[in-house]
Amino acid sequence: MSDVIKLLPDTIANQIAAGEVIQRPASVVKELLENAIDAGSTEIRLDVKDAGKTLVMVTDNGRGMSETDARMSIERHATSKISSADDLFAIRTMGFRGEALASIAAIAQMEIKTKTEDASLGTKLVIKGGKVEEQLPEQSATGTQIAVKNLFFNVPARRKFLKSDNVELRHIIDEFERVALANPDIKFVFHHNGTELFNLPKSRLKQRIIGIFGKKYDEKLVPLKQETTVVNISGFVLKPDSARKTRGEQFFFVNGRFIKSAYLHMMVARAYEELIPQGYYPGYFIYLELDPGFIDINIHPTKTEIKFEDERTVGMLLNSSVKQAIGMHNVAPTLDFDQETSFNVPPLPSGSVPKPPQISYKEGFNPFETGREKPTEKHWEAIETFYSDAKSAPPESGSDSIFDEEKRAVQAMQVKRKYILSSINSGLIVIHQSRAHQRILFDEILEGMSRSEGTSQQLLFPETVNLTPADMLLVKELADDLRLMGFDFSEFGKTTVVIRGIPPVASGTEGSRLLAEVLESFRAFSAIDNLGQSQKLALSLAFKSAVKTGKALSEEEMLDLIDRLFSCENPATLPDGRKIYYTLSLDELNNRFN
Ligand code: ADP
Ligand code: MG
Repeated sequence: MSDVIKLLPDTIANQIAAGEVIQRPASVVKELLENAIDAGSTEIRLDVKDAGKTLVMVTDNGRGMSETDARMSIERHATSKISSADDLFAIRTMGFRGEALASIAAIAQMEIKTKTEDASLGTKLVIKGGKVEEQLPEQSATGTQIAVKNLFFNVPARRKFLKSDNVELRHIIDEFERVALANPDIKFVFHHNGTELFNLPKSRLKQRIIGIFGKKYDEKLVPLKQETTVVNISGFVLKPDSARKTRGEQFFFVNGRFIKSAYLHMMVARAYEELIPQGYYPGYFIYLELDPGFIDINIHPTKTEIKFEDERTVGMLLNSSVKQAIGMHNVAPTLDFDQETSFNVPPLPSGSVPKPPQISYKEGFNPFETGREKPTEKHWEAIETFYSDAKSAPPESGSDSIFDEEKRAVQAMQVKRKYILSSINSGLIVIHQSRAHQRILFDEILEGMSRSEGTSQQLLFPETVNLTPADMLLVKELADDLRLMGFDFSEFGKTTVVIRGIPPVASGTEGSRLLAEVLESFRAFSAIDNLGQSQKLALSLAFKSAVKTGKALSEEEMLDLIDRLFSCENPATLPDGRKIYYTLSLDELNNRFN
């Protein structure tokens, strides 16, 4: 047999390698931003078109590249950042593998314009499919501009895998936020389709966080500071009472690099134990500085996971400094924590023990957590039997056919302010009160939206709401549906809206809070594939406006809820699959007593 092994041509090898480094437009954003940072830039601008599918362009004022370096930069394993294996243990730069530009060049069209300080003219390179097609001298400012066009133009299979613009842009914003949070001393500007999403001047960390997440963070942040021989810990944690039901602002940075660590997250979460209800996540922006020799960032190709030489020590130190920060905050709330330097709080008098902070638990519970499982076959059967009864006797007729003769007497009772228990012809039914109400409201809201009425309950005083750039973007995307749902608002400046009316189902709620909460649940529901945008929105509003677990209901209210639930077309489950009720047949009950 003849020899069959061939070396792959570089272009193909690069395309394959690219698969590992570049999964989506956001990966390009990350690599280009990191290169700009490594080049010592103080100002970085990101321009994106069509969620990065058409263009990702990063312009920096860093040290630039010589003509030769510019050509070299797109070669595989071409890097200026390490030259020997030993350097791997002292990495201070974001990149070091020398494969990002080679990978990107292999799967996109690329233009590099760059100039070093001492050169009088810069260089422009046009690259297609990994090959330099054009090289010209060009007049330009010191720094580098790299434009990446038509990502995956030559790998249609990968292009197909890209998600909607909405989703891809969210990934880009996530990467941008991480890089911007890691480098508050660098100015960042970010434009999408010509609209400015972020403009973050060089600032202190606190200002940077506020610039990204909004003014409301001003009061939520508690500074963190601990210097030890192993690790220096700094940054901010959020006060326990601003913990949220959805994962959101959890950021770890190690030596300026965003990382994910389930272990470190757990050590932080433990510091909040007892201070926040189950199912809530504490927020944090935590920066760890360690000797690069104590960590291994080589472990993961996209480098969001790293290995610590002594993870447990780091974890314990982290846990204690978070505890201390939130403890101090609660013991001495009058101290001025506004300044980032305010960690120099005098130590407590010796012998005194910090009081455990008193935080009241939020009422209500997180329905995201449970009941996601699909009904089993058996369950469906029970539901269907029951349901067919319900169908044959529409509740509005007042018929008692599903509910037995006891209806007028003890029709329904509430259990633990969470479930409604009732006797029915075939046995027993247990209804989840909050979910039942969510189903009723969901149907009502969707019906209202389809009639395109957009009935709105006008507020007495219009409310001005400041949103984060990301939320503002979402509001713009959802604007039509939000209006159909009953939000009456207009844009007012880049990140401000004025709310004049709210959906009638949420009457009595503060407009700004309602909008923020609807956006938050929309994000939580956005992972559910089989729901359309308006359904997700309707579900978010229903979720937000429904009666909660923990609310005592009168018998009349329970009866009303049951009646309305069973006039819904699908009373058994919520659109995302959560069960609304459970039935127990008389036979099953009888069996229990055998
Ligand atoms: P790495 O960052 O791992 O070294 P890259 O493929 O990302 O690999 O970049 C290759 C090289 O190109 C870098 O080592 C650097 O010398 C040069 N380079 C890339 N982007 C820039 C930039 N924005 N400014 C200056 N030099 C750059
Ligand atoms: Mg790089």
